[in-house]
Amino acid sequence: MSGKSILIVGSIGLDTIETISDRRESILGGSATYATVSAGKSADVHLVGIIGTDFPAEGMKIFEEYSQDLSNLDQKDGQTFSWGGRYPEDWDDRETLFTELGVFADYEPKLTEKNKNIPFLFLANIHPKLQLSVLQQNLKRECVIIDTMNLWIDTARKKLKEVISYCDVLLLNEFEAEQFTRRKNHDDQGAVLQSLGPQQVVIKCGTKGARLYSGHSVDTIGVFPVQNVVDPTGAGDAFGGGLAAAVAHGESMTEAIINGSALASLCIEGFGIESLHRASNEEINHRKDYLRKTLNS
Ligand code: AMP
Repeated sequence: MSGKSILIVGSIGLDTIETISDRRESILGGSATYATVSAGKSADVHLVGIIGTDFPAEGMKIFEEYSQDLSNLDQKDGQTFSWGGRYPEDWDDRETLFTELGVFADYEPKLTEKNKNIPFLFLANIHPKLQLSVLQQNLKRECVIIDTMNLWIDTARKKLKEVISYCDVLLLNEFEAEQFTRRKNHDDQGAVLQSLGPQQVVIKCGTKGARLYSGHSVDTIGVFPVQNVVDPTGAGDAFGGGLAAAVAHGESMTEAIINGSALASLCIEGFGIESLHRASNEEINHRKDYLRKTLNS
């Protein structure tokens, strides 16, 4: 595998997901899981996270397949983080049914010597204090990419601002961008977010695509048209993982967004990671070709 290695930290969970037509209980999920499967299809991933004693063997097999280094995958007595979500018919306004922190409640990641020297960091959605802890232990960082969620904008804004001040690439969806900046206009949101530190800000706008704010320029990228959405969970994390992998391969940020968007479109075609896991390189490349034609069009 060419390119530089990526350290990924985030949640590893067992998700219960309800859509209007189906339901899955305790399936593999979590922001770090989606990001690892997505990035691990093309890049050397080092996973940082924690699981409980109830974590299933199939989940371990997935991590062994997509992460080259599991020295920072801790297992502790107790329950794995678990989360439940329910989607309405139009997929908007997902309702959180429960969040059980389990072993995440007092998790303090301690990077192994090797992982302190990994140059690319993807701090997937998790409490900003854990993102900051991993960031500060890493001595050789060249590029820090971060993602977050509305919960931390509400409850840990100051810590989140601190993490953002260290980051090179910030990923937010359009609702989080509005919530964080208190601005309605995307260009204003981009400017406010860039002023906090990151040279590059990506605002993910769901079916409307993504906007990249880089220096004084703005690029727009569309979406691959998915005919049958099955479960949108993890799309943002798959996007981030795909973007991080392309950045670690030295690709441009627009190419990185194209890779992220292709993987996100695959993610939502199945429950949990199933469709992402199955996706062939041929299908990913086909979607990337389509997405390239949507650049600034
Ligand atoms: P997304 O659909 O991109 O928001 O990501 C969904 C994943 O985030 C699910 O697999 C959940 O396990 C995970 N998740 C939900 N709530 C949290 C939380 N508070 N902290 C970390 N991860 C979470």
